[in-house]
Amino acid sequence: MTVYNFSAGPAVMPTSVLKQAQSELMDYQGSGMSVMELSHRSSLFDAILKDAKKHLRELMNIPDNYHVLFLQGGASLQFSMVPLNLAQNKKALYVNTGVWSKKAIAAAKALDNVEVEVIASSEADNFSYIPTITPDMIDQNAAYLHITTNNTIVGTAFQNIPDTGNVPIVADMSSNILANNYNVKDFGLIYAGAQKNIGPAGLTVVIIRDDLLGLCEVKEPMLDYKVQADADSLYNTPPTFAIYMAQLVFKWLQELGGIPEILKQDQEKAQLLYDAIDKSKLFTSPIQSTSRSITNIPFVTGDEKLDQKFNADALAAGFENLKGHRSVGGMRASLYNAFPKEGVKALVAFMEKFEKENG
Ligand code: PMP
Repeated sequence: MTVYNFSAGPAVMPTSVLKQAQSELMDYQGSGMSVMELSHRSSLFDAILKDAKKHLRELMNIPDNYHVLFLQGGASLQFSMVPLNLAQNKKALYVNTGVWSKKAIAAAKALDNVEVEVIASSEADNFSYIPTITPDMIDQNAAYLHITTNNTIVGTAFQNIPDTGNVPIVADMSSNILANNYNVKDFGLIYAGAQKNIGPAGLTVVIIRDDLLGLCEVKEPMLDYKVQADADSLYNTPPTFAIYMAQLVFKWLQELGGIPEILKQDQEKAQLLYDAIDKSKLFTSPIQSTSRSITNIPFVTGDEKLDQKFNADALAAGFENLKGHRSVGGMRASLYNAFPKEGVKALVAFMEKFEKENG
């Protein structure tokens, strides 16, 4: 049975990347060692690290005045590192668009010296849309505005990046990094856990503008972006194997045609599923059409029991991890870059059959 993995993360990886990793697993480039056995100070690993950064820079068009850091602790540690580094004794602005935004807000609020202001929220409407942010909402003395560009659980995404004047935007891009054509210059800091569009869990990518380094007033080296940048992501042992996998994914994406090409493919995949939902009399999308994510696509029947039946039948047919997040229920298809178009077509056919039999 063909298995399609709709997991929200850790998520599907490109098959060719997994095959390459398999072929190199026991003997990396004639070294007689696996990548996971290499010293992080070795020239072989150094080449992998440099290459990974280079490819990410090329893919995202990252300007020279931005640093690329490979850290650990997941996107969740960034919820704390961002305010620790950037907002001590200052005000930080947040947009509340879902569970992950709320966690970022809670982490900032936990710090004594940080004043947190939530300037907009869609919580009262079950996070079903992205609030509009206008320049007059931005206090120009704020340290930053934090947004979650793609909301993995509810399936919404910022279609435009707000104009914040001189206030840097900090973006949690965990679930749509490398799947959008956002301009890095529009952000002061971007962070993302790797386990969706980049590679295996364990690696966290941070892209930070020069002028935002060196602002950490807390003397904790591991938590200080400047310490990490000065050490070129080698302050301590980095997640070497995850970085190697990320490097393979970056190369795969470049060979495919980079972000313009993957964006086209991702849009096509999402359109197939949204079209099926929109024309269905059984399935609906719980979010507003103008805020739709092309990456995480939730849908429901409106009947919890029927959702459960759909999920059980889908699982039996090889559609893995379609069950919606435990906080919202229903179904959710995560269509990350490596997810094949045939999988979406198969899902749509399955939904049509289910509707005929159960609608
Ligand atoms: N932000 C977003 C948008 C996410 O989707 C996730 C994970 N699903 C997180 C943050 C948390 O990431 P991590 O588990 O890497 O800490």
